[in-house]
Formats: sequence, structure tokens, C-alpha cells
Amino acid sequence: MNLKIAVLKGDGIGPEIVDSALEVLQTIASKYGINYELKEGLIGGIAIDKTGNPLPEDTIETCKNSDAVFLGAVGGPKWDNLPTHQKPEKGLLGIRKALDLYANLRPAKVFDALIDSSPLKNEIVKGTDLMVVRELSADVYYGEPRGIKTLENGERYGFNTMSYKESEIKRVVKKAFEIAKIRRKKLTSVDKANVLEVSGLWRDIVNKEHKNYPDIELEHLYVDNCAMQLVNRPASFDTIVTGNIFGDILSDEAGVVQGSLGMLPSASLGDRYALYEPIHGSAPDIAGKGIANPIATILSLAMMFKYTFKRDDISQNIEDAVDMALLEGARTADIYRDAGFKVGTKEMTNVIIKNL
Ligand code: NAD
Repeated sequence: MNLKIAVLKGDGIGPEIVDSALEVLQTIASKYGINYELKEGLIGGIAIDKTGNPLPEDTIETCKNSDAVFLGAVGGPKWDNLPTHQKPEKGLLGIRKALDLYANLRPAKVFDALIDSSPLKNEIVKGTDLMVVRELSADVYYGEPRGIKTLENGERYGFNTMSYKESEIKRVVKKAFEIAKIRRKKLTSVDKANVLEVSGLWRDIVNKEHKNYPDIELEHLYVDNCAMQLVNRPASFDTIVTGNIFGDILSDEAGVVQGSLGMLPSASLGDRYALYEPIHGSAPDIAGKGIANPIATILSLAMMFKYTFKRDDISQNIEDAVDMALLEGARTADIYRDAGFKVGTKEMTNVIIKNL
């Protein structure tokens, strides 16, 4: 196996947590006899400082010439006062667009050792292991017309358009069925088909696509009901697929069920490219202190092995090693409560590597 990975460390804790995951990668490579090539690119604030552009052309080229992109985080107070189109976050949106990434995968898994971090009761969250697949390229965030107008009576009027083309729905739904197929074979499609025409179209396409996946159990939920069920019965969900705005909200809700920002990985997939990153930001308040939790980034590496390199065995190996490190009691400051022993970024990485 020869892997070509583009590495965009970014700002704040980005370089620290990416370096941790790369140490895990090195151990995995020697254990499984894998060759890999890393190519670094600039993104975010550091790219602004060095080139004046949060997403230099070189970086896009590097990503396009790789099998997968691995990203830390971008942003920080140093760049907060720049105009919106020059901010580090523009780099993030730009790379997703340049690579035509349309499916955002956000897992929420409750680790037994951290069950007390969840704001919900243990008996409700125990066993939760779900995946939200959020459409990323269309919906009300991109629909036209949009704007603010002044009506004849002088009152201002704001409007956006929720819209989806059939092809945009079909490709993400297909991806979600494929993901459900390698998980526990259950798909929940979330819409608002009782009120919105665009949701009626969404539901129709999901039902048609289901015919190609007869072994997957399909359920439809309205988004308001899904929001309730996520806190009522999170463990009953497997894969959830939904549009951009509903997914934006539901994936954050699902993340909270799990308990800690430093534990949540993500993937953004297209037909040709894929990008893996933790969901948290660059945590400027703790950058450079060696105390950031590397787990979300290490779990993003596990997702890369599952979804891009199709190596479930390696992905599971990494997840199990994280599980074992937590069961042994290793805790970075953000997940430390009363039990266990406090570790920094490097020690946590070493405990995980020992368990691989
Ligand atoms: P944040 O996620 O960076 O931090 C929120 C809080 O969680 C902070 O207290 C931080 O210390 C803590 N935290 C986050 N990740 C952690 C980790 N791995 N280990 C331990 N603690 C962790 O969000 P924010 O403070 O709102 O944003 C900071 C900067 O990051 C901003 O510039 C923002 O725009 C940017 N941001 C980037 C991304 C991204 O790159 N994907 C996402 C969100 C925010």
C-alpha cells in the first residue's frame, strides 16, 4: 500500500495535534507494512502570514495530487480583524469547494470510560455510536435568490432560498447508504416533508435509492422529531442523512451528546477527494502549552483509513487503542474529571501508540 497524504497543519493547536496523529500513522505504517508520502501545504492564518492568501494555489495543487487531505485547524485572534474574505476560515471553505466535497461525516460515539462527560444520563447514552452525514454543497446557504430588500412601505425584508437539485440529493444519499452498509445497516433520513417541497423531493429520492440497498433498514424523521429523539434515544441511531442546514444543527447536537469537543473527528467526502479533520477549532487559548487533546485528530486518521483507504482493520485498531488509553485512565485536561491521571498531548499520544 502506497499512500499520498496532503498535510495542512494550520494554526493554534493544529501543528501539535497533527504531529500526534502523524506519530500514530508512523507506528501503523511499520506495523502493517505501509509506505506513505506526506506533503505539507499552508492554510489559514499561517498561509496569510507567509503568502497573503489563506488558501494558496500551491496548497490546492498539493491536495489534488494526494489520496487524502489531513487538516488540523485554522484561525486565531491575530487574524480576527481582517475583512471576511481574507480570514483564515476562508481557506477552509475554499478547500472544501476546490475539492468538491459534498458529504460531511460527523460521528458521535460515547466511549464507556467517558460516559460521565455526557450531559445526558448514563442509561440513555450508553452504546451511542452514530454517524451524521450532512450534505455540504447546497441548500439554503447557497440557494438564490437571497438578500435584504426594502419593501414599498419602508419595511426591510430578508430572504434566502432552500433549494436542491435532484443530482445534489442523489449523490449524498447514495454515499449515506454506502456508509450505512459498512456500519450497522440502518439509515435515518431527516427532512421537513410535511411543510417543504424541497423535502418532498428529498424523501422521494431517498425512497427510490433505497431500492438499490434492500438490506438497509430505512426510517424517515422530520427534523424537529429527530432533534428530540437524539436526546431521547441516541443509541438507537446508526447513520443519519440530511441536508446542509438541518445537518449543521443536528451534528452539533449529536456532538454534545457525546460530551467533549476534543474527541470529535470528521470527514468531508466528494467523488474524487476526501478531507479529514477534527471538528474543534485552533484553540488559541491553549496553543503551545502541550495540553491539547489529540484524540479527535487521531480518530480523524482512523476515519481516513476506513473511508479512503478501505482498511477497516486499521481504523478499528486505532479506535481500539484510543478506547484502551481511556480505559487505562489517561485524560487530557479537557476530559479530566476526578478519576484517571492527567496527561499532556505527547503522553496521551504515547499511551495510544503503546496500545496499537
Ligand atoms: P475552539 O474549538 O478552538 O475552542 C473552544 C474551546 O474548546 C476552547 O476553550 C479550547 O481550548 C477547547 N478545545 C478545542 N479543541 C480542544 C482540544 N483538542 N483539546 C483541548 N481543548 C480543546 O473554538 P473557538 O475558541 O470558538 O475558536 C478558536 C479559533 O478557531 C477561531 O479563530 C475560530 O474561527 C477557529 N475555528 C476553526 C475551526 C476549524 O479549523 N475547523 C473550527 C471552529 C473554529
